[in-house]
Amino acid sequence: MRMILLGPPGSGKGTQAAKLSVSLKIPHISTGDIFRSNIKEGTELGVLAKSYIDAGKLVPDAVTIGIVEKRLKNDDCRSGFIMDGFPRTIPQAEMFDTILQKLDSGVEAVINIHVPDDAIIKRMSGRRMCSCGRTYHAENNPPKVEGICDACGGKLYIRDDDRAETVKERLRVYHQQTSPLIDYYQKQGLLMNFDGLKSIDEITKQILEAVASIK
Ligand SMILES: [Zn+2]
Repeated sequence: MRMILLGPPGSGKGTQAAKLSVSLKIPHISTGDIFRSNIKEGTELGVLAKSYIDAGKLVPDAVTIGIVEKRLKNDDCRSGFIMDGFPRTIPQAEMFDTILQKLDSGVEAVINIHVPDDAIIKRMSGRRMCSCGRTYHAENNPPKVEGICDACGGKLYIRDDDRAETVKERLRVYHQQTSPLIDYYQKQGLLMNFDGLKSIDEITKQILEAVASIK
């Protein structure tokens, strides 16, 4: 099964991708993870990507496409893949189609996990972290004493990425870039919508059922 996962930041898309990868025995390809590991290992690609990120710029499509193409040629992608975080824009989606055509293949399903913006802002802005690695949520999983880690007594903090203003900005960018992508795959008859407010396990189950029906 060759599938793409779409969903806003905080939709649980990465979690779903990981679970689906285990169930369907196909690799979970996260371009974010590939960039991070290349940067960590200091590869040529990593150095190139880091130069853009450090300058506050987006990594150009040509660079991203290059790493995706290389990854797809790995043997483990023969029976399919789950793309997470890519494609993000129409030009990327078009380039992705071209790459797959070259490999005599194509996308079979596009999974869109929908979560309303206000629910995402609530989810993400409630996250509290501790330097010991524990995480909490102000409403769903609060510490015994507000602002203090149960495990180590450390002071809890909010990651910059989880601040309401940051989340709103990320959602704005997401909607701007991804709405056209939803139309793009809808027109190809590949889009399947799922309610991201359901439990993690319920969503996985629904996706697996939907995917099984198109095989
Ligand atoms: Zn702690």
